[in-house]
Amino acid sequence: MKVYNDINAWLSMRKELSTHLSLGVVMTMGALHEGHLSLMRQSKQENDRTLVTIFVNPTQFDNKNDLQKYPKTWESDCDLLQQVEIDYLLAPRVSHIYPAHDYFYMNENHFSQQLCGLSRPNHFQGVLTIVLKLLNLAQAQRAYFGEKDYQQAKLIQKMTQCFFLPTQIILHPTIRDPDGLALSSRNTRLSETGREKATFFARLLKTEKSVLNMKHQLELEGIQVDYLEEIGQHRFGAVWIEDIRLIDNCAKP
Ligand code: AMP
Repeated sequence: MKVYNDINAWLSMRKELSTHLSLGVVMTMGALHEGHLSLMRQSKQENDRTLVTIFVNPTQFDNKNDLQKYPKTWESDCDLLQQVEIDYLLAPRVSHIYPAHDYFYMNENHFSQQLCGLSRPNHFQGVLTIVLKLLNLAQAQRAYFGEKDYQQAKLIQKMTQCFFLPTQIILHPTIRDPDGLALSSRNTRLSETGREKATFFARLLKTEKSVLNMKHQLELEGIQVDYLEEIGQHRFGAVWIEDIRLIDNCAKP
């Protein structure tokens, strides 16, 4: 696996990559788990080469504490990427992605204002900005995003359509632990009791109970609900457990 911290070094390599070879990209913030690896395996199946990016994007964190506490596991991430036989890893420096006096951001003013956007001001502005920058750097045929972050994935799909970006956006199903909890880098910060509560939330979301009833049950378990909503045929939830914000979604049962 070739590792690039320098954007220009990556771009030189990208220029030299034969136009006959297709490239797939998987964007991550590191602390890799089976959910991320599953996206990478799909990319490897569908493309000649796969690029993974690791970048803990500061502009999408509305809460500085959350950014500081975001797990960083560089060594084990690299081991996992080698095991999956990833071709390229791009881990750019923050100052290269966001040079001083750079005031350009990507905005969406409708869906990004709902659900996670309500409780995390500017979150999706940060997400769409970094995804746009990384799509332009990767110049990939396909980019893979998890349905775990359904609102994010849909916004990215819409952005690429609206701006006629050439990369195809592919959504990958949520990977869960056998107990139903969606894999997330944030799960590692949960205590045993916290994890039980998280699993309760994941299971409850898939039941036929009404949103009101679910909210009540979560609160009885001492779980703080950020939102629980149904939009069209989809159900979305976000909760706080032990100061950690967890999200999940599913098709409306
Ligand atoms: P993150 O590192 O959390 O920003 O995630 C990077 C990518 O992996 C995003 O497209 C996520 O939606 C996806 N992802 C994270 N967790 C899962 C999961 N449990 N199942 C499927 N995709 C996931």
